[in-house]
Amino acid sequence: MRRIVVLGAGFGGFHATQALEKALAGRRRVELTVVADDPRFVFTPLIPNVANGELDLASITFPLNEQLGEHTRFVRERVEGIDLDRRVLRGAAQEIPFDYLMLAPGAEVHWYGNDEWAEHSITCKSASDALAIRAHVEEALAKASAMTDAEERARVLTFVFAGGGPTGVELLAELRASLVEGVLATTNAPMRFILVEPRPELLGALPESLRELAAEHLQRVGVELRLGRSVMGRDAHTVTLDDGEEIKADTLFWCAGIKAPSFLSDSGLPTVDDGRLDVDVSLQLSGIEGVFAAGDACSPPEDVPQTAQVATQQGPHAANNLIASLSGRTQSPWRYTYQGDLITLGRPQAAVSIKGIAFQGRPAYALYRLAYASLMPGALKKLRIITEWLESDAAAQRTRTNVELLESDH
Ligand SMILES: Cc1cc2nc3c(=O)[nH]c(=O)nc-3n(C[C@H](O)[C@H](O)[C@H](O)COP(=O)(O)OP(=O)(O)OC[C@H]3O[C@@H](n4cnc5c(N)ncnc54)[C@H](O)[C@@H]3O)c2cc1C
Repeated sequence: MRRIVVLGAGFGGFHATQALEKALAGRRRVELTVVADDPRFVFTPLIPNVANGELDLASITFPLNEQLGEHTRFVRERVEGIDLDRRVLRGAAQEIPFDYLMLAPGAEVHWYGNDEWAEHSITCKSASDALAIRAHVEEALAKASAMTDAEERARVLTFVFAGGGPTGVELLAELRASLVEGVLATTNAPMRFILVEPRPELLGALPESLRELAAEHLQRVGVELRLGRSVMGRDAHTVTLDDGEEIKADTLFWCAGIKAPSFLSDSGLPTVDDGRLDVDVSLQLSGIEGVFAAGDACSPPEDVPQTAQVATQQGPHAANNLIASLSGRTQSPWRYTYQGDLITLGRPQAAVSIKGIAFQGRPAYALYRLAYASLMPGALKKLRIITEWLESDAAAQRTRTNVELLESDH
């Protein structure tokens, strides 16, 4: 019996598993095991829509036991190391042996050596982060409404976002839209949204046309951009930037970077400078037979962004090469096919770039929603997500009408 183990069930690992299940159909002498520390697949691009209350967490997560094939074994385990000599994954509670391995553990939050900032920051990486963000923002608004000191209230209603990549921009845009609409919580006091990005422009990895559309929109709606600036200090009430500016803010959303899990390099696997797995064009670990990788944790020869789009393409390709390796067939090189970019700028705005054409506005927002709903597995999930969006739109419309009525009464 040959044992194939997939570590991670996110975009890379889940799609690799589906390809392995297909390739192994009818082969009884190969055992397929998926190992992950979370029993759910999390559709990360919609985390901001859960954070701002538009969607339920259950709508963007799928229990793996419902999605995996009947012959696939799922082991919930946190892997802490890999012993290549003994061919075992070392978990917190058990060892998992393998003959062939697919590594797709994703990435973790990067604090760039400032781990102590975590105490006074909120990350936007996981399903639980989405709920924590929502709870934090609602609490901040409740706190602000009970405050009499204007300076203190301003500090509670100042939201700083570190990182002008897609995560920082989309989280800011979605939260701002819901807060301004009054759907998430209501306040009459002014709120500040500040985005800090060390590079001279936002969304560095995206096409220029889309970067410009996003920056223009954010500025138009009053977001304060601090481009070319980095966070240099953080305590409970202040964010300090590298030019000395001290922003009084109780909230810092840390969306400033990710890094490969350190157990990969600690286990002696081949890694590049930033700790990602060094893989060849076939997505096999350099110099290591039968061990493949996909997603954020790997660094292929072609320079690609760390996105779901890339991981979703790498997973099945690496899986087919793993099967080729197992069957003694030739492996094929992986090449990235860019399909375009979608970025939400908060209801009802988005920016889209497809086949070299970039556009913004309501049509882009409709496309953004349709594209993501279509990626949900199963008709029920698609319907559920569309229904929640429509209900949320209706709630926003009711809130706007109520506010207009109240204002006209005064
Ligand atoms: C808020 C947010 C928004 C995003 N928006 C977009 C977007 O719009 N478009 C886009 O293309 N990309 C987007 N991304 C990026 C995208 O989520 C990642 O690039 C993608 O998830 C990478 O896939 P992966 O399989 O490498 O890792 P993941 O999807 O993160 O999966 C990692 C898997 O490994 C498991 N795991 C991790 N460590 C261990 C361990 N030690 N032991 C056991 N299991 C472990 C996890 O439980 C999980 O199952 C976004 C990311 C975030 C956080």
